[in-house]
Amino acid sequence: MSILVYLEQVEGSIKKSSLEAVSYAKSFAEKTGEGISALALGAIEAAELAKVGKAGAEKVLHITDERFAEGNIQAHSRALVAAFQKEGAKTLVLAKSSLGDAVAARVSVILHAGLVSNVVELPDTNSGFKVRRSIYTGKAFAQTSINTDYKILSIKKNAVDLRTDGSDASVETFDFAYPEDTGVKVTAVEKAKGDILLPEADIVVSGGRGLKGPENWVILEDLAAELGAALGCSKPVSDLGWRPHHEHVGQTGIKVSPSLYIAVGISGAIQHLAGVNGSRVIVVINNDPAAPFFKAGDYGIVGDAFEVLPKLTEAVRALKK
Ligand SMILES: Cc1cc2nc3c(=O)[nH]c(=O)nc-3n(C[C@H](O)[C@H](O)[C@H](O)COP(=O)(O)OP(=O)(O)OC[C@H]3O[C@@H](n4cnc5c(N)ncnc54)[C@H](O)[C@@H]3O)c2cc1C
Repeated sequence: MSILVYLEQVEGSIKKSSLEAVSYAKSFAEKTGEGISALALGAIEAAELAKVGKAGAEKVLHITDERFAEGNIQAHSRALVAAFQKEGAKTLVLAKSSLGDAVAARVSVILHAGLVSNVVELPDTNSGFKVRRSIYTGKAFAQTSINTDYKILSIKKNAVDLRTDGSDASVETFDFAYPEDTGVKVTAVEKAKGDILLPEADIVVSGGRGLKGPENWVILEDLAAELGAALGCSKPVSDLGWRPHHEHVGQTGIKVSPSLYIAVGISGAIQHLAGVNGSRVIVVINNDPAAPFFKAGDYGIVGDAFEVLPKLTEAVRALKK
């Protein structure tokens, strides 16, 4: 028996959230004694696949057809089902993401597998199979039982520590023909502008109305460039046209789960917090000590963004020298 992990990649790099899913599977396998295989789709360098072993997988099945990088959901689902059956797996583990959600739902129907998403802890198998999941954008938790033979767990980003104590995984080319008959063909992929995509970013520097106008965004851009961060903003900022809508973070925008979220001149309204409470560490910069964001933050700087930010950028620059 084994646990299968579905890996997502971006331009040949395995996503960190997928490595977290492998780490989760490894910690679970230590309780159950199962092996761990992972499925990688599309062109990926051997060094990248080795990382999967470090996170805990013993074997990586690799389907090399480059068309898988297009993210055709039906093609991914079929490949995943084939790998699941080949490995004789009982449990599928994957990272929660837009692609992961779409694929997991299809695989769940094909395999008649119980699916729980946004999982934050290892399953409790003392009596049945219970999993804790995050709900209401992180405001509450639900305990869920899965009663089916096959189980699918999609893991919330940043809920699991990355493991690096594994050894190199054996990489096996999996001879699976790209399905041409899915009824869906990806004809073009248009990437959002910006070097780092907001939903995938490990660090986000985000600005609110406290920045006073779009001309002042340069101080955020400088800090983001030093940190290798993506830019985000509050809803009013994008509504005012100061920043593009794809940078709008919150309940009605993008939900982010970076390792570090730096909120500058954002008040911390509940609708904004709903999009950021998956962040591992939150730093708040605001000149009003009573701003609600400070209650949600791990670190806070009470001060004028126009004074604090250049100093912070300079300090990061100095640290990197
Ligand atoms: C249905 C609904 C959905 C919504 N969805 C979202 C959403 O998805 N995302 C979202 O962001 N909002 C959302 N909102 C809006 C939300 O309620 C807030 O109005 C919004 O988040 C406030 O944006 P802000 O913090 O940038 O602006 P403000 O509330 O105006 O806050 C600006 C902050 O900047 C600080 N500041 C001012 N000058 C400086 C300075 N020089 N240096 C440092 N700090 C300074 C101020 O102290 C203040 O805290 C939604 C609202 C509704 C009703």
